[in-house]
Amino acid sequence: MGVSFDKIDGSLCLKFDIQPKADPTPDQERAAKLVSPGFGRVFSDHMAVVRYSAEQGWHNATVEARGAFQLDPAAAVLHYAQEIFEGLKAYKRDDGGVNLFRPDANAKRFRDSADRMAMPPVPEAVFIEAVEQLVRMDREWIPSGDGSLYLRPFMIASETFLGVKPSHEYIFAVIASPVGSYFKGGPAPVSIWVSRNYTRAAVGGTGAVKCGGNYAASLRAQAEAIDHGCDQVVFLDAREHRYVEELGGMNVFFVFEDGSLSTPPLGTILPGITRNSIIALARESGAIVREEPYTIEQWRADAESGKLKEAFACGTAAVISPIGKVCSANGEFAINGGVAGPVAMGLRKKLVDIQYGRAADTHGWIKKVF
Ligand SMILES: *Cc1c(COP(=O)(O)O)cnc(C)c1O
Repeated sequence: MGVSFDKIDGSLCLKFDIQPKADPTPDQERAAKLVSPGFGRVFSDHMAVVRYSAEQGWHNATVEARGAFQLDPAAAVLHYAQEIFEGLKAYKRDDGGVNLFRPDANAKRFRDSADRMAMPPVPEAVFIEAVEQLVRMDREWIPSGDGSLYLRPFMIASETFLGVKPSHEYIFAVIASPVGSYFKGGPAPVSIWVSRNYTRAAVGGTGAVKCGGNYAASLRAQAEAIDHGCDQVVFLDAREHRYVEELGGMNVFFVFEDGSLSTPPLGTILPGITRNSIIALARESGAIVREEPYTIEQWRADAESGKLKEAFACGTAAVISPIGKVCSANGEFAINGGVAGPVAMGLRKKLVDIQYGRAADTHGWIKKVF
């Protein structure tokens, strides 16, 4: 118990108390779970947990058996939704080693999210150490092939108090979930529904940070998309209901006949690490990439005139999903004949090859855990 620190990469970091599970999942049972894990239903044996109190700061860092938290029914998170999260993956290389992709960017974004939600920042070294310790402990849970171990760091307000104010106590934890390839046999184009009834984020709101509340508020719109036979919802801006922002949990890109790309500018959208990486990779390949507003009317006109060649969504979970069809109350239009386009597929391969260590990491994006 108590607080102890270690020097990690030159910065002060909490020392994690490693408490392996007494009865880990038997090899055969784990192997069976890794065959076809889907997304987010199978979990590894352990979790990393760090506690915060206003008096002690961050303390009691452990890697322990995954299990339920004890929360008082008046815990702040259950009432006022003071919660943030991250998502990143550990990838198994062909040489048996393990890569993380840009964990420093997740750590930085987690700080930004904490700041917006009046939560204490988790030092970036602590965030990365928690992720790495969990991956070390549960490395057997990383699927081989094109699967990966999805890591979910999150923080909740745990103080028992019904007053409306920032909590004085928090739990930061990381859990891990083996996931298969998001798409079996390559990414199938998704159909998206343009929400006219709901918006995701307004200027001054929480659209640019990864908080659970954004997702809670998107579910009704997502349900509307499903009701209309679509896979995903795409949100327009809150002020004019014209500018394309993003999907519920993925950023969007447009590819034009002159080879240029465009993507909505930062502000009310979530600053995706996949989005940022795609901008870098596309520019490196010589393409012009604009971060500029794009209206739904223009999207339709460009798709119909042939000026727009492709559109795709991107994020850590699915990497890149081509958008095949856009539907709304005013009718629908197809993109690239409803099939995956070469730019989306090329960028996807470039990114995935870096993540799995099959292509040179010229950007310093990879952190080897092993
Ligand atoms: C997490 C997330 C993304 C994608 O971010 P990545 O860092 O690329 O995984 C995009 N939009 C929203 C709303 C998100 O929550």
